[in-house]
Amino acid sequence: MKTKAIIYTLIMFILFSLVQNLYAQNPVSNSTLQLEINSKLKVVSSFFPIDQFVGKVGGEAIERMLLIPKGVEPHDYEPTIKDIEHVDSADVLVYNGLGFENWIGKMNNPQKIDASKGLNASYLDERNMTFDPHVWLDPLLAKKQVENIRDGLIMIDPNHKDIYVNNSNNFLNELDNLDEKIRTDLESCKKKDFISFHNSFSYFAKQYGLNQHSISNTDPESEVTPARLTEIINIAKTLGLQVIYSEELVDPRQATVIAQEVPDGKVLVLSPIEGLSENEQKAGLGYIDKMNDNINNLMVGLQCNQ
Ligand SMILES: [Zn+2]
Repeated sequence: MKTKAIIYTLIMFILFSLVQNLYAQNPVSNSTLQLEINSKLKVVSSFFPIDQFVGKVGGEAIERMLLIPKGVEPHDYEPTIKDIEHVDSADVLVYNGLGFENWIGKMNNPQKIDASKGLNASYLDERNMTFDPHVWLDPLLAKKQVENIRDGLIMIDPNHKDIYVNNSNNFLNELDNLDEKIRTDLESCKKKDFISFHNSFSYFAKQYGLNQHSISNTDPESEVTPARLTEIINIAKTLGLQVIYSEELVDPRQATVIAQEVPDGKVLVLSPIEGLSENEQKAGLGYIDKMNDNINNLMVGLQCNQ
């Protein structure tokens, strides 16, 4: 017993002096090391769906910040000087890409992850080389964005690779389930055409064999001409569509005007998931919740068996 106690004391003494020595030799690098282990990667996302994907991949390993507030329509957004400073203070900026954030060049400091890198995007205008940015509304393209975010975070923060891989695998499964649900739910529909508010559902429509007609063009806040309103009313009448879709962040009056001209017309929300209404923010809705709401409302407009 005595020998054991002596050995134990000796070991403790050696360990103690070792630790003391380490601190004495290099106290600064030791405290820095401590900070690096405890601090989380600060990741700022440009707008709501990207923040959702980043949160799913990063989980507890990151500190999340959102640049464009959830209640603000992001198409016409211009960052303020304060916003630029805010982004500067982060380690990483994750953005949708495909020209959606046309202010991205103003952000110099943090490392950037383009969520749409290498993605097979469609042109909106081939002459001007402008792309349709709304890839997040197609769950299978959203998977590519999640993979890009995962790979980007691993490159910048390899210490947390396992977390990023596990988290993204879980969310990629959720997106696969969502894709399957959409295919099953839309199987029995009588219609293939729908009238969205702005043309944000092109990728979605292509993925699920639907035809999108939109009241407004790429930007939901651009003016809709009276001629376009008349055209849309005619399309709804010709195709026998009763539901005119609006969005949570736009004035629903334009959709209402059309619905009033259509037999049994009514307005429902088909969300481009570019943000959330105040009530949705309070309820803490996420990307998958919003997609499920969209499917339910689409099933009404496409006259599917419910
Ligand atoms: Zn849009």
